[in-house]
Amino acid sequence: MTTHPMAIVGGGQAGALLAIYLARQGHNVNLFESRADLRRVDIDAGRSINLALATRGIVPLIEVGVIEHVDAITIPMRGRMIHAVNTPNPYLSPYGSKPHEVIHSVSRTDLNAILLDAAEATGRVTIEFEVQLESVDFAASELVFNDGRTEPFNVVFGADGAGSRVRKSIAALGACEFATEWLDHDYKELTLPANADGSHRLDPQALHIWPRGEFMLIALANPEGDFTITLFAPKTTFDSLITTGSIAAFFDSEFADFAAEVPDLVDQFIQNPTGRLGTMRAQGWSYQDRAVIVGDAAHAIVPFHGQGMNAAMESVRALARQIEVSPDDLGAAFERYEAERKPDADAIAQMALDNYVEMRSGVIDPDYVEKRNLALELERRHPAHISPRYNMVMFSTMPYAEAQSRAEAQADLIDRAIADPSVDLDALVAKLPELPPLDALVDLDALSTS
Ligand SMILES: Cc1cc2nc3c(=O)[nH]c(=O)nc-3n(C[C@H](O)[C@H](O)[C@H](O)COP(=O)(O)OP(=O)(O)OC[C@H]3O[C@@H](n4cnc5c(N)ncnc54)[C@H](O)[C@@H]3O)c2cc1C
Repeated sequence: MTTHPMAIVGGGQAGALLAIYLARQGHNVNLFESRADLRRVDIDAGRSINLALATRGIVPLIEVGVIEHVDAITIPMRGRMIHAVNTPNPYLSPYGSKPHEVIHSVSRTDLNAILLDAAEATGRVTIEFEVQLESVDFAASELVFNDGRTEPFNVVFGADGAGSRVRKSIAALGACEFATEWLDHDYKELTLPANADGSHRLDPQALHIWPRGEFMLIALANPEGDFTITLFAPKTTFDSLITTGSIAAFFDSEFADFAAEVPDLVDQFIQNPTGRLGTMRAQGWSYQDRAVIVGDAAHAIVPFHGQGMNAAMESVRALARQIEVSPDDLGAAFERYEAERKPDADAIAQMALDNYVEMRSGVIDPDYVEKRNLALELERRHPAHISPRYNMVMFSTMPYAEAQSRAEAQADLIDRAIADPSVDLDALVAKLPELPPLDALVDLDALSTS
């Protein structure tokens, strides 16, 4: 049998990172990406779209040796800056007290460019842009592209996002089942421009939230001085925002401080696309030793925990580790990878949905604030046993499923203590199993935090 380079479909964060891991293990890789090369073409039409990078994404970036380049393009965010309706000034709700309990705003495009550069720099990765996979023909061992071209392959990695064609080809063989649960809320990205002198109009070192119950606005800073703003709202709200008058009135009444800073807000709102949000759950992530899916192709989630890319990169790391264990038995490696990651993918999918309610209404709910403060206080008193859910998800590499079950146990204790103040909470907390140690690669100094 002819041996072909390993094929990766999709050059987003997951595909580019996987190419680096595979090349470092000595494999040759052909990567096929449907879009133009984002290092040469402005694919976001001039807009900066950024993401929150946290520990689970940082660890693989350290492992493959690109963290210094990433450090140069990130902005640390220490907590949520809450722009509540009835409070004159926004206030900061810190994420945590430890040095690494900081998330980082990073440009999607710039991070992707660093990963593509690093993949090519291995000398083992060839990248072809503007080639769109149509399907995988397993019987003929060919990748079929939408222009009719075919490419022979032995093993193909589907890193082709939530609408993955590789996943659909595995499903066509009956080896994978998947379903997408769409949210009845959509999103739209807008830009808050920099001040005339290039400085930020808001504190760049915070993730800004305007919680409004059923909907919310969030803002993440870009190094150029602007902010990427995202409105998350029910479809019915978007449906009502059709005329320039209704859009202006909506922002003036709900987000007056923000609206006052953006003269072309209505134009942006009309011009920028409205995006859908959904959770894609799949079972059967691989087919024999021929194909496997990773990243959003295997587990696409709603963005409210800022974890989709972080989870994608953590899954790439898990997959690469299993391939390294049995490079001559990829089928077994793929099965172990799914067995390890599927419970975690399901857990973060649910926690991401839960976090929407927390962000748009919980953060200003006195009950939530009381519980969050109690959790932080308990963490101070019992750092070996307790950590708030948000922190376990964002600032550790403990499996998501474990973070979810620990968070449920902690929430039960806190509910009991609030219902009955005579409960000896410290004694109960001390009985919780100890938290696992941080991953050895969690280098607290890897990314600048100031
Ligand atoms: C509004 C919003 C905000 C978000 N915020 C965050 C955040 O703050 N933090 C976070 O961690 N995550 C966030 N996410 C999630 C994050 O964007 C994704 O989880 C992440 O990009 C997944 O990476 P991926 O490489 O698996 O998929 P993608 O980034 O979708 O990459 C897939 C790649 O495959 C290519 N491709 C697709 N089909 C084909 C084909 N047929 N042939 C060839 N190539 C193909 C695509 O062009 C693309 O380059 C957010 C998502 C949304 C929608």
